Amino acid sequence: MIDAKNHLRKLPSIDSCLAHPKAEACLDTYPRQWMVSALRVVIDQMRAELLQGEMAPLSRSELTALAILRACTSLREQARGIQPVINATGVILHTNLGRAVLPKVVIDALASIAGGYSNLEFDLTTGKRGSRQVHVEKALLELTGAEAALVVNNNAAAVFLCINALANGKEVIVSRGEQVEIGGSFRIPDVIRQSGAKLVEVGTTNITYLSDYADSITETSAVLLKVHRSNFRLVGFTASVDPRELAALGRSRGLVTMEDLGSGSLIDLPELGQVREPTVRESIASGMDLVTFSGDKLLGGPQAGIIVGRRHLVEKLARNPLARIVRIDKLSLAALAALLRLYLEPRHLVKTVPALQMLAMTESEIEARAKELASLLTAATLGKGDVKIIDAEDQVGGGALPGISVAGKAVAFRPNHGSSDELQARLRLVAGQYPGRHVLPVVAPLEGGQLIFHVRTLISGQELEIAKTLAVLMEGTSP
Ligand SMILES: *Cc1c(COP(=O)(O)O)cnc(C)c1O
Repeated sequence: MIDAKNHLRKLPSIDSCLAHPKAEACLDTYPRQWMVSALRVVIDQMRAELLQGEMAPLSRSELTALAILRACTSLREQARGIQPVINATGVILHTNLGRAVLPKVVIDALASIAGGYSNLEFDLTTGKRGSRQVHVEKALLELTGAEAALVVNNNAAAVFLCINALANGKEVIVSRGEQVEIGGSFRIPDVIRQSGAKLVEVGTTNITYLSDYADSITETSAVLLKVHRSNFRLVGFTASVDPRELAALGRSRGLVTMEDLGSGSLIDLPELGQVREPTVRESIASGMDLVTFSGDKLLGGPQAGIIVGRRHLVEKLARNPLARIVRIDKLSLAALAALLRLYLEPRHLVKTVPALQMLAMTESEIEARAKELASLLTAATLGKGDVKIIDAEDQVGGGALPGISVAGKAVAFRPNHGSSDELQARLRLVAGQYPGRHVLPVVAPLEGGQLIFHVRTLISGQELEIAKTLAVLMEGTSP
């Protein structure tokens, strides 16, 4: 006990830790107040450990260094904050990594709106209140052939708003083959229930005929809903109803027809080859009353939900109180407006929209990038691991184009010492470990005990960043 008391006296104060040179790097990275709270917790914990005899006797300077180390570690773990990362997964629209990378002109437009006031809801002609929707409406109508458009926070909100505004207390008829769960708890049946409508399922998992819809219509039916199978494929003995037939049925029975396209696509780009999603224009031309899709999937823009369709229905949506709740923010709107401009002059689209450019990359471009990365990695790791170029399967991601992978290339790295698992974790955590050095976390998958760096999703210049980061991590290990 006397011994413990003796040790307790050596515990540093928070102030002495803060003043210590070892705390400097951490104080450069995090607010002082966070460091103070972290030190308080850590020193309390060390006091308890000393009392329980769980810690070997240490000098005051050792205890100070330990307190600072523990406090910085806990801050690094809890307070990483949102930050850029390098995506070496080969998944282009990686939902967990922020989906679409925005084009440069879109970022410029966004920045100019973010840093000042704008005519967001102000009509410069009349000097009176205006609608934020006008900034994207004209382009959307031109690009889709629809009568009216409304953009909201995301596509999940778009579907929710449509069902609530048009079918609250009524029935929504959906095929059993289209009861999709998108992920992040967006399930079509739940969304329909939550929006106050009653789900009527028709057909079977693999087969739904037009007569299945027709036979289920009652006087409380309001909407015939078609949902794009965004993240799975139905193969084998299957049948589903063509949007044109469903639209005709809706018209003849006085029901609204709606298609949730998920990713959707505004134009057919021959450069994308097999990667083809139905276009919004096709869906509108098939006679669907309303079509919804995302801004940050194959469109390659900001998070947004886009609704296009018949004017009287879109007006009804706009008047619904939910429209205010799910409205799009000004930054996403500015970004979407700038993106749609690019679509209006599609000649350079594939070169300017990163999501499309990544998809359209030719085999020789991919190969050149893989060679560059491989030679940079070889130079940076000084024989401390095995570097080789391998074939890889890249993915579109974002719930677009299920089952379709795009042939790509990757650079595989196997360290001579230490495990690849550990190296993978250190690549993710590297930014916090070297505060002050400008390094980005690298997210790369493991396969057969090797780290795999897919090159398709790297942004120009990141090959060198990966090499530099790997060099830092391999410092001190022997060849
Ligand atoms: C992705 C997707 C959604 C949700 O879109 P968000 O923009 O992510 O909210 C809804 N429906 C389908 C069919 C989808 O693929």
